Amino acid sequence: RAKAMGRNALRFFDPEMQAEISARAALEGHLRQALQQDQFRLVYQAQVDQGGRLIGAEALLRWDSPQLGAVSPATFIPQAEKMGLIVPLGQWVLDTACRQLALWGEGEDTAHLMLAVNISMRQFHQPDFVEQVLMAIARAGANPARLKLEITESLLLDNTENVIAKMTMLHALGLGFSLDDFGTGYSSLSYLKRLPLDQLKIDRSFVQDVLTDANNAAIARTIIALAHSLELEVIAEGVETGEQRDWLAAHGCHAYQGYWFGRPVPAEELIASF
Ligand code: C2E
Ligand code: MG
Ligand code: MG
Ligand code: MG
Repeated sequence: RAKAMGRNALRFFDPEMQAEISARAALEGHLRQALQQDQFRLVYQAQVDQGGRLIGAEALLRWDSPQLGAVSPATFIPQAEKMGLIVPLGQWVLDTACRQLALWGEGEDTAHLMLAVNISMRQFHQPDFVEQVLMAIARAGANPARLKLEITESLLLDNTENVIAKMTMLHALGLGFSLDDFGTGYSSLSYLKRLPLDQLKIDRSFVQDVLTDANNAAIARTIIALAHSLELEVIAEGVETGEQRDWLAAHGCHAYQGYWFGRPVPAEELIASF
């Protein structure tokens, strides 16, 4: 018995597990300082219409850590969520994005552009979320009608009435909402009608092999049809080839985002490339 326990105890010193634990601790430690030390920046990925014209952009967060190098948001956003750091970080994103939007608002060629900002669940559930958004807009002098908040289906899982109330308030003030990664979550279709949504965003996983996988093609077609019947805009993310774009266009999707049109880049670069 002691032997068995001994063997179990050994599991704690599993070098792989130990390495994982220290990596996470390091990430957490560096992440804590990153905001004060100005290590974050936003990049902007083009959103285009059927004619290939720039209609807007999605703001995407980048972290250049002096210790860890460039860390993917897929790694540090979930960690920032766990730590609660996503709240001040999300506020920084909103402030920075709104300042960019205000700058675009001043230019004749850029005044029409929409800017989409990702909102995490924990950030949205802050009691003062609506005020925080409005203050970011006011501080920057941005046009709320040009700001679009990207939320995911997981947000709709609990406290739905409260979520709808906040969305409705922001919507009344002119902001738009896009349901990101649509099709990967588990939201009931009946919710969709109750939410003040403007746009469905077809997840990259369906777009990726829309030409080769009949199931994903069927899902993409269904999402497009659903958007049309609910009178929502629909945008495809992760468009990497001209063939994917053409398939989507032929099936009624009129807005696109993906490497085919451009990688996420600094704002000046985005504007210069269109
Ligand atoms: P998302 O909101 O679904 O963003 C789209 C992701 O797909 C981005 O990854 C983008 O760089 C990538 N992407 C765009 N086009 C293509 C393509 O053609 N092919 C491929 N393979 N990928 C493409 P990124 O920037 O690494 O961000 C990952 C996720 O991190 C985002 O997914 C979003 O959920 C989250 N995120 C990023 N910035 C923020 C932020 O400011 N706040 C919050 N809360 N989450 C953020
Ligand atoms: Mg997004
Ligand atoms: Mg997405
Ligand atoms: Mg996605």
